[in-house]
Amino acid sequence: MGEHPAYISRDGRGKVKLEYSCNGEQLVRLWENRGDNTLETLFDSSGSILMQRVAELKKEELDSKVSETISAEKITKTVELEYMPILLDRPCPKCGAQFIPRYAEVFASREEVPIMPLYWCKECRTTSYRLTDSYLEYLVENNWALFDGMEKKELEADRDKFMSELKSYIIRIFASKKIMCIK
Ligand SMILES: [Zn+2]
Repeated sequence: MGEHPAYISRDGRGKVKLEYSCNGEQLVRLWENRGDNTLETLFDSSGSILMQRVAELKKEELDSKVSETISAEKITKTVELEYMPILLDRPCPKCGAQFIPRYAEVFASREEVPIMPLYWCKECRTTSYRLTDSYLEYLVENNWALFDGMEKKELEADRDKFMSELKSYIIRIFASKKIMCIK
């Protein structure tokens, strides 16, 4: 707590990035404003997405949202940095190029945000996705209404089994759409 400073950077066009450590883990929280809404994404240090959500938040409300997070995370010192895009530190599953930008970052004009974290390789121009266990947990917890009673029972009986079956199911769906998984 308060040992390391947090880093704030702004691209001047509605993106604010906050890099900080939480329980020894390095996290990056990014707010991207688009009109009345803001996409908030939480990344780990490799650029993998842990959570993403769209909130009703205007550009002029961004600074107070960032301040709120700073106090909630008990950050005592912040340093301003130049804005750099967040790149995934994993090889592209098709061509092996490292540091792939997020799909939403490349196609910033798109209104809708893909539910699955997608990435877009500039080298071979393919879209791929990365599903971390944390993101899968996040999806399940935030889409509880989509699961029926039977599925909820299965989840309660054996959470690990349920999650791993769900993961294989998602992987099969994406494979059928020829969208590769980033390991
Ligand atoms: Zn590639």
